[in-house]
Amino acid sequence: MARGKKIYEGKAKILYEGPEPGTIIQYFKDDATAYNAEKRDVIDGKGALNNRLSEFFMVGLNTVGVPTHFLKRLNMREQLVRACEIIPLEVIVRNFAAGSMASRLGIEEGTALPRPVVEYCLKDDKLGDPLVTEEHIAAFGWASQQDMDDILSLALRVNDFMSGLMYGVGIKLVDFKIEVGRVYEGDFQRLIVADEISPDSCRLWDIETGRKLDKDVFRRDLGNLADAYTEVARRLGVMPVNATRMEKPKLIN
Ligand code: UDP
Repeated sequence: MARGKKIYEGKAKILYEGPEPGTIIQYFKDDATAYNAEKRDVIDGKGALNNRLSEFFMVGLNTVGVPTHFLKRLNMREQLVRACEIIPLEVIVRNFAAGSMASRLGIEEGTALPRPVVEYCLKDDKLGDPLVTEEHIAAFGWASQQDMDDILSLALRVNDFMSGLMYGVGIKLVDFKIEVGRVYEGDFQRLIVADEISPDSCRLWDIETGRKLDKDVFRRDLGNLADAYTEVARRLGVMPVNATRMEKPKLIN
């Protein structure tokens, strides 16, 4: 498919103009970064794995009625998505304490939270994506009250879907981040899940052993990142190489 001009290059993906107006091609790179890009490496196969996994999650979300930007996967590293205006927030949902929440509030990693906790960070690499409150979001006009209601509802629906899917293959969804975009349809506008959902943006722990199967493997030097992502893909029946034969997810008893 014809790829247009490069629109944007981020840490893990490149965006190109798509073949039709309102479409974008998302190219998944093998680059891994952490701690606001202070730590970086190239991990063979990561881009292909994230492309397949993000496709799998977004297609599942579309199927259960949660709107996403995903249109179709084009090849090993590229997918066609709807262009949208990204709301400048990282929306984080947590089921168990980990990472910055564990250190900020002094809660031991792995502690179950009494209910899913949703946090917002401003998307600004220069500032290190600071945590912001709904007061900040309203005062600075980053999103309207209606947007915030819709964002919360999308985030919790993604959490329900992803938690159940992961539990079925023996993985605990500790936390994740999504980004939300605005699309215009005639006189209406609505919010959809955008960017990617992959082990780069989730914390995934094996339920039995606690083994980490997400980007913390890279952040904390816990082993081979591609092996961890491949394990997630294998359990979900999403193999990166043989794109035509999709196995069913394997239930873990
Ligand atoms: N996350 C992300 N991108 C970011 C920041 C966080 O995808 O720029 C994800 C991260 O992988 C984890 C969740 O959001 O699944 C919560 O991250 P946390 O705030 O604990 O930050 P970290 O400890 O990764 O700095």
